[in-house]
Amino acid sequence: MASTFTPILIIGAGPAGAATALRLSYLGIPSVLLDKATFPRDKVCGDAISGKVPTLLNRLDPAIMDRFRQRFTPADVWGIRFYPPSKKLIELPFKVGYRRVPDEAPGYVSKRIDFDTFLIEEVRRRDDIDLRLRTEVLATDRDETGYTVRTKTGEEWTCSLLIDASGAHSKFSRGEAGQQIDKNHYAAAVRGYFRGVTGFHPDNFIELHFLDDYNPGYFWIFPLPNGEANVGLGMRSDIVKKRGLNLRKEMDKIVASEAFRERFRDAVQIDPTVGYGLPLGSKDRTLSGDHYLLTGDAGHLIDPLTGEGIGNATYSGFIAAELAEQCLRENRFDAAFLAAYDVRIERVLRTELRLSYRLQQIMQHKWITNFLTGIVAANPKLVELLCRMYTDFELRKQLVRPGFWWKLFRAKSGKLPAVAED
Ligand SMILES: Cc1cc2nc3c(=O)[nH]c(=O)nc-3n(C[C@H](O)[C@H](O)[C@H](O)COP(=O)(O)OP(=O)(O)OC[C@H]3O[C@@H](n4cnc5c(N)ncnc54)[C@H](O)[C@@H]3O)c2cc1C
Repeated sequence: MASTFTPILIIGAGPAGAATALRLSYLGIPSVLLDKATFPRDKVCGDAISGKVPTLLNRLDPAIMDRFRQRFTPADVWGIRFYPPSKKLIELPFKVGYRRVPDEAPGYVSKRIDFDTFLIEEVRRRDDIDLRLRTEVLATDRDETGYTVRTKTGEEWTCSLLIDASGAHSKFSRGEAGQQIDKNHYAAAVRGYFRGVTGFHPDNFIELHFLDDYNPGYFWIFPLPNGEANVGLGMRSDIVKKRGLNLRKEMDKIVASEAFRERFRDAVQIDPTVGYGLPLGSKDRTLSGDHYLLTGDAGHLIDPLTGEGIGNATYSGFIAAELAEQCLRENRFDAAFLAAYDVRIERVLRTELRLSYRLQQIMQHKWITNFLTGIVAANPKLVELLCRMYTDFELRKQLVRPGFWWKLFRAKSGKLPAVAED
């Protein structure tokens, strides 16, 4: 069979793959982008798009988010409602003292069927991205020059650099790159779409409910446009297995429970509950090797505390594309050269992922969570301080230090009014 050569080939056109191809294109570098699906296609997800995503996409083109909003009208999100086991509600706006300005929301909720289609539309605007849908990759073979990729449609490609963006179930990541699933660093989650859920914050705060019986993990309710909501339950896979839980049934139980009965009284579920895996980034892994890079879920880069993966998928795609530019310039695609990808992932994403893992571990102790959230709930100044953690990475680092909380505790009792400096 005759094969076609392309220097860079990307498997998967979800957020990681589309971001990689777009970043390459804006750098003036062509690529081939393969996906087994046709778009629009669904992806099981909470549909919450953090501020990281618009920040990165705007770097490509400042008009890109306008195109997204005009085309799909996502729900603007201005903060998070956090319900600890003690049920003491904490509301954390993304910006202190924010004003709700149209087109400037710091985050969104948008069904993935829309958001991923939007990314594909952006890909289609770029002549130098050769997008092939309904093209499932069946096999990859490496030799000293790169990879040969065979598809179900009978095509064969050769490339110098293969970028795997084929998601949580990536065969390449497990088979070729040896990234096995570790249930202590993996989560299972289910999602259902509802209409008619009531009781949302007027500025569309997304809701994370940390419930006694589902720790570590949470039940979420995210407001969508048109009166719809994305409702779901996620937990670490080792605990799901140990307790033999069926998350679909557990989610039904939560929705029908006394605590949520009022809010779901007139709600109807508009399609079946579906589940999918979340490869968490709480374990250090090597995401590069001779002629390949792993991005997004294929590289296990989901935040272990929040379950957020779209932002890190996009970020890793950008990092992969920027390194690919250097590879082409130097004509180097060997593991030693590509190790620069892991160095950059370490600097940009790993520290944050480790921090989230520590918080996830701290939150397994219900009494600590209740104690700390009790302090916060009682003190609006501390809430303000915590709002800054979205943008202030140093502050987030302080969050996992006992000394920081001691200062907060003393601040509560009026002895330490200024707590920002640690
Ligand atoms: C229930 C649930 C809730 C979540 N909630 C959130 C949330 O609210 N916010 C958030 O930021 N993240 C959330 N996540 C995580 C988020 O969904 C993922 O991190 C994100 O989709 C990763 O993007 P990706 O491009 O790496 O992979 P994917 O989005 O999975 O895309 C992979 C693509 O590869 C294609 N593909 C796969 N195999 C092949 C093949 N052999 N050949 C060709 N193409 C192939 C697929 O068709 C797909 O289009 C959630 C995940 C789950 C499961």
